[in-house]
Amino acid sequence: MLNTTGSNPYNKDMETNNEISVLPTLEQIESAYSGRPGKCCCGCNGKHYHADNTGDYRGGGKPNDVKQIKRILGILQAVPAKELEAFGDYVSAEVEGRLYIVYRRAA
Ligand SMILES: [Zn+2]
Repeated sequence: MLNTTGSNPYNKDMETNNEISVLPTLEQIESAYSGRPGKCCCGCNGKHYHADNTGDYRGGGKPNDVKQIKRILGILQAVPAKELEAFGDYVSAEVEGRLYIVYRRAA
């Protein structure tokens, strides 16, 4: 598992042991990913799911698939905050040998 603790912009209070929610809400998520950990995340080792149907998909994948995004968000919500990797516009975690990522919409 990647260790980005030192450069994690969303978890600055980790030392204090405060549980901060780093996960976006369902409405804030543009897309989600489920794939093999430690591999390329372009879509060749997993699947991207998109909330909208904009025609411009990061990593290809399925449009209008809020159901899958909900499922992946649910998996990440069950992960202890300190085990989530948050960087830039995404939050990810490895759960039972699978890598899950949610991507925030552009602000
Ligand atoms: Zn790839």
